Amino acid sequence: MLQTAHRTAFDESAGITLQSDIVADYILAYGSEEQKREWIPRMVSGAAITAIAMTEPGTGSDLQNVKTAAIRDGNHYVVNGSKTYITNGQNADLVVVVAKTDPKLGAKGISLILVEASRDGFARGRNLDKIGQHSADTSELFFEDVRVPITNCLGEEGRGFYYLMGQLPQERLSIALGAQASAQRAFDEAVAFTKERQAFGKSVFDFQNTRFTLAELASDLQVGWAHADWALSRHLKGELTAAEGSSAKLWHTELLWKVCDAALQLHGGAGYMNEYPIARIWRDARVARIYGGTNEIMKEVIGRGL
Ligand SMILES: Cc1cc2nc3c(=O)[nH]c(=O)nc-3n(C[C@H](O)[C@H](O)[C@H](O)COP(=O)(O)OP(=O)(O)OC[C@H]3O[C@@H](n4cnc5c(N)ncnc54)[C@H](O)[C@@H]3O)c2cc1C
Repeated sequence: MLQTAHRTAFDESAGITLQSDIVADYILAYGSEEQKREWIPRMVSGAAITAIAMTEPGTGSDLQNVKTAAIRDGNHYVVNGSKTYITNGQNADLVVVVAKTDPKLGAKGISLILVEASRDGFARGRNLDKIGQHSADTSELFFEDVRVPITNCLGEEGRGFYYLMGQLPQERLSIALGAQASAQRAFDEAVAFTKERQAFGKSVFDFQNTRFTLAELASDLQVGWAHADWALSRHLKGELTAAEGSSAKLWHTELLWKVCDAALQLHGGAGYMNEYPIARIWRDARVARIYGGTNEIMKEVIGRGL
């Protein structure tokens, strides 16, 4: 996960963390022996690309309200519905689809269904035009009477929402670590640029405002790294709670935004130019406060346990 965080620090490819930190763990945690053997080796080698499809045009934060249905028909499920904002959607060979196997129920009617992209009735929409993270593809997906065998259910039918809640701390920690690493990179860019750039006969770094701004950010980053280590070590021991994972995502992504914005400001006009790395880091950073559950939802999760 840390390796991914370092890569994310500049070449922001959400699709890689999605595959290695999220989908792989769903299959490892809940998959049958057959599902693991079929997908994990190819995911590791990069021969198979995967996605997880929760969000729909009509619902994102309110996951219990998904409308995509996977209805039993003999030894098959018939999947109908649509998803949106799906990372890796253009390239995925396999999609973990969050669907209602019992549409009358709320959370208890949700299952995770593996849908291979080769199935009839599966279609991809366009690659969505995003503000940033251009190296990751993000798509709409459509399912029209897609038949998959019942052995494509990941784990037990009706336990999908429980599984989602179980995996979210890791997903959120992964985003938090990526955010911390990207914040560090933004800071490093600002230090290097301001030492180089001259104004009023001295380097921009020599202005007290610059040094005070950077000193505050350096302190925030120091605290952030200590917290990242703490959260990661709790996660490795299986102790990171849903609220702690949410706090990590909330805090590190807010830090990322604060650092990126200040670092861009210290670049002056150069910060707004795409040829400078800070412009791309700033653009890529914005979505971290939205995906993986918005930061408002993080506050809901944390607040509920108080
Ligand atoms: C680049 C990108 C990649 C993504 N990748 C994936 C992916 O791979 N798979 C996937 O399934 N999804 C993915 N998403 C979707 C993402 O997880 C959702 O956009 C996110 O969860 C928010 O859902 P929404 O867009 O429907 O917003 P909404 O739920 O409509 O929220 C709109 C606003 O209302 C606020 N709000 C909603 N409910 C509450 C509440 N209870 N209390 C307070 N405020 C609330 C939100 O915080 C937000 O500010 C991706 C999104 C983006 C932008």
